[in-house]
Amino acid sequence: MYHFEGFSDSPPNILMKVRAKKHLGQHFLRDQAIAQRIVDSLIPHQDYTRVLEIGPGMGVLTQYLLSKDDFETHVIEVDHESVAYLKEHFPTLSPRIIEGDFLRWQLSQLTDEKVAIIGNLPYNISSQIFFRVLEQRDQVPEVVCMLQKEVARRIASPPGNKEYGILSVFLQAFYDIEYLFSVPPGAFDPPPKVNSGIIRLLRNQTARLDCDEKLFFRVIKTGFNQRRKTLRNALKPLGVELDSPYLDQRAEQLSVEDFVKLTKLVEKAMG
Ligand code: SAH
Repeated sequence: MYHFEGFSDSPPNILMKVRAKKHLGQHFLRDQAIAQRIVDSLIPHQDYTRVLEIGPGMGVLTQYLLSKDDFETHVIEVDHESVAYLKEHFPTLSPRIIEGDFLRWQLSQLTDEKVAIIGNLPYNISSQIFFRVLEQRDQVPEVVCMLQKEVARRIASPPGNKEYGILSVFLQAFYDIEYLFSVPPGAFDPPPKVNSGIIRLLRNQTARLDCDEKLFFRVIKTGFNQRRKTLRNALKPLGVELDSPYLDQRAEQLSVEDFVKLTKLVEKAMG
């Protein structure tokens, strides 16, 4: 068999493959059954039909998304070579391919309506992707994504253990989160150094928090900054006098509701 890879002036041909680029976090999923299972984890809803895939690469998830009638699939991909590949292999998708960086783009550029998000995320920027999702949360009813297993576990973790962290609280404030399943490195080409996990986030009923949201984020960041200390000590940088039983606990022991209450106390103490 002849491969024509690497010749930029060679005619498009079906054997062309995208070269994996490390700086873009490109690890292509090659296990079709897992790809199908990830796409099947999206729950069809009546009030949204659009789905945006972040980082489709060579389209291993996209092919299954396109076979679903209940969704209209859009993709955003920063890698020009992948975009060229997708246009060639999925011509009907072409008008719905956005060549761009998800971190520098807004859902409102696509639509004002709700959009579910799916993707095998570039692991190196998965936290940043989630902060962008949080900013646009009222337009994002659902997220199904694969990321580094450790981070997936952390995001889905309940309070009271050492996996629970800043992103867990922020995301759990607005989403119900479920860890779905794990995927070993061998399912990818090239294999990543870490295990992977799939999570599903469903937007909860909380329109906004019952406290100052900026301060909520600040209290959590400050509290987890020294997570081994009690909040009495960890929150010292805020420079306020507090009196609450929460102060005898550590950040990782507090639920979203606890942090809301604590934030209100801080707000009051700040005067
Ligand atoms: N979904 C494919 C590829 C996963 S690798 C698969 O499962 O095989 C992650 C993909 O995200 C790569 O295709 C990479 O080019 C893309 N990517 C990386 N950073 C991105 C960004 N900021 N915005 C959009 N896509 C990005």
